[in-house]
Amino acid sequence: MEDCLFCRIVSGGIPAKKAYEDETALAFYDIDPKAPVHVLVIPKKHIASLAAAGEEDFGLVTHLMRVAQRLAKELKLDNGFRLVVNTGREGGQTVAHLHIHLLGGRAMGWPPG
Ligand code: 5GP
Ligand code: ZN
Repeated sequence: MEDCLFCRIVSGGIPAKKAYEDETALAFYDIDPKAPVHVLVIPKKHIASLAAAGEEDFGLVTHLMRVAQRLAKELKLDNGFRLVVNTGREGGQTVAHLHIHLLGGRAMGWPPG
């Protein structure tokens, strides 16, 4: 989808600092980091949100979790990290392409705002 920001990052139209890439997934550093480590893990396929993911997408969703786990290890988040999937308007989603936030490098508060 050419009007989707993250699809444009996947196609190279918009540059991003990549942390990981394979055939189906891409991870890149958030432009406005909310923690010392803030990486977004996304499917290359356009899926608008977790709510919009179909049965057939959940192998891919599991793969994204695996990529997040691997990155957390590589980025030495040994004391812990947080994965966030903002979904829909009340969920705080601002980019309509499924993404997992990988946050780490500081203690996280709870509950989220
Ligand atoms: P959301 O609010 O949808 O959960 O997360 C979207 C995230 O994308 C935000 O944390 C925001 O900082 C990040 N973001 C928005 N535009 C860009 C961009 O052009 N490049 C990168 N690397 N991150 C972006
Ligand atoms: Zn997209």
